[in-house]
Amino acid sequence: KAKEKGRGKREFFTGEMNAFTLERLKLEGYLRKAVQKGELEPYFQPQFCLKTERVIGFEALIRWNHPELGLISPIQFVPLAEEIGLIDEIGRFVLFESCKQLKKWHDGGATHLSISVNVSGRQFQRLSFVYEVKEALEEAGLSAEYLHLELTESTMIKNVQYSISIMRELRELGVQLSIDDFGTGYSSLSYLKDFPVDSLKIDQSFIRHLSDDYFNTSDAAIIKAIIMMCEGLSLSTVAEGVETFEQMKLLREYGCHMAQGYIISKPMPAYDAEQFITNFYTVKNSTS
Ligand code: C2E
Ligand code: MG
Ligand code: MG
Ligand code: MG
Repeated sequence: KAKEKGRGKREFFTGEMNAFTLERLKLEGYLRKAVQKGELEPYFQPQFCLKTERVIGFEALIRWNHPELGLISPIQFVPLAEEIGLIDEIGRFVLFESCKQLKKWHDGGATHLSISVNVSGRQFQRLSFVYEVKEALEEAGLSAEYLHLELTESTMIKNVQYSISIMRELRELGVQLSIDDFGTGYSSLSYLKDFPVDSLKIDQSFIRHLSDDYFNTSDAAIIKAIIMMCEGLSLSTVAEGVETFEQMKLLREYGCHMAQGYIISKPMPAYDAEQFITNFYTVKNSTS
């Protein structure tokens, strides 16, 4: 039957074994090896302060450099890694690498920079997580205030009381916490006052169509409301996925603190990020 339907490799499939499961199995096998072979590498995207017009830090975003398939997006493997438990190893790797990388930049003179690391639900819920963070900071010789951890709403609401207690421990260490992809999750606003966080990242889906366009005022209204609410809660705001100058200008007008997006820079390898830091400040210093 498979022979009638498919061509090439597909004729080997039988029953429920469809292209999707095989692709998945292949990916799973590749991913396990990728971790061992060191094919994973954090990229870094600048976070830009809209008030001071300075890069104040970077977000670490994992990339998988597959020798044949090329660069694979985390959207394609982070959920899988989470499911099969590999995220523990990957998450730990990103956390340790990011702290070490930031320490290098500090040692090179960029002492004001911070690093934001994404934390997966499974990683966060592990009993050893706080210890792991402490270990990463110690190993890098990095002061905790420079490490920001990004958690999504779904991560935090899995086990609210436990999450709050872990978040308190992390903040006692001096680490800063931020809510990632705000507005896309379960977003119960009542949780906002209970979760001890420092900042909130407005999801890029609200930013994407933001423009001066008279016909699109709903995104602007939502963004403004989020910023106002954060003001009242003393949380700082970061806009994700800022792609145009117009968006940057509007966000500044609305009082948003920070922007991240292609308009400033795409995520880049550590070496390029380093060049970016150097060039960015040279350009700024020579023009102002
Ligand atoms: P995120 O943490 O919300 O990261 C923002 C995503 O938006 C990144 O995608 C970034 O490359 C992309 N982005 C930034 N600026 C722009 C822009 O101007 N326009 C557009 N269209 N996109 C922009 P990326 O790197 O593919 O990562 C996707 C998601 O994968 C992340 O979303 C995060 O949830 C997850 N992820 C990435 N690295 C890690 C990691 O080390 N650990 C865990 N647990 N998750 C990670
Ligand atoms: Mg993030
Ligand atoms: Mg996000
Ligand atoms: Mg996202």
